[in-house]
Amino acid sequence: MKRGNDPVVIEHVFAYGAAMRPQHEFERAIELVAAGLNDCQISRRLDIPRGTIRDWRHAAKKNPGFRTVHAIAHRSDLVVPSTNPGGRCDHTCEAPAFAMQNRSAYFSLLGQYLGDGNISELARGVYRLRVTCDQKYPGIIAEVERAAREVSGRRSTSVVEWTGCVDLAEYWKHWPCVFPQHGLGRKHERPIVLTGWQTPVSRTDHRMLVRGLIHSDGCRFINPIKRRSKNGLKRYEYTRYVLTNASSDIRTIFTDSLDALDVEWRVMNARNISVAQKASVFALDQFVGPKY
Ligand SMILES: [Zn+2]
Repeated sequence: MKRGNDPVVIEHVFAYGAAMRPQHEFERAIELVAAGLNDCQISRRLDIPRGTIRDWRHAAKKNPGFRTVHAIAHRSDLVVPSTNPGGRCDHTCEAPAFAMQNRSAYFSLLGQYLGDGNISELARGVYRLRVTCDQKYPGIIAEVERAAREVSGRRSTSVVEWTGCVDLAEYWKHWPCVFPQHGLGRKHERPIVLTGWQTPVSRTDHRMLVRGLIHSDGCRFINPIKRRSKNGLKRYEYTRYVLTNASSDIRTIFTDSLDALDVEWRVMNARNISVAQKASVFALDQFVGPKY
């Protein structure tokens, strides 16, 4: 059984780590915008790229009070045309093929969507994908944001900060085309089945899906235990992963991927799947690891 690092995956994972700029920089920039400085002047004064200042200026104008950050790179040449301009896409578009150009981003976002995301319909056939992230984990926030942009080719993500959590929202006509699991009602009250093209195939696909699911709906715990031996009481620490999801279909998607990766798991109770066997925890540590 092959266990170990896949350098390609790990490199990709860390490429996601570009951190969001701190709130105080955003606020300072907006103050200078209000004071009448132009993007170049603000950029020089705060040592922040001019494109970032420009994006902040637009965001603050459009959504006062909301913190909005913009894309690292512009990909305007990669826009998926709508098959029904002005209305809902009829799902015969190129969006699935487009999304699959970066399979790692797609499967990690699929995991995040199945875990803690939802899609809602707005006006003129536009949908909003919203993923709620814990504010404690800026690395995960940046990763979800990056993945949402990679999958959609959209250039901007709106970030709404609440107490303790952050809602990332990405607006696109094709979210239901790339996540056909979108439907009425809560995910655990309806069937969630992956369609053919979105079924993970390679180990990398499975790894990224597992990573997305654990980073949204799971946890990595370190449990101290004491065991009596002939030399007295000994302390041990053992690590385990737990995924909590109310949907049995989503738990099955998770355990199917674990099976494909030769990771042992067991059902803890009605909502929880746990991975506690040492070699399996080690395997997950190679591509999931603690939330960050
Ligand atoms: Zn579409």
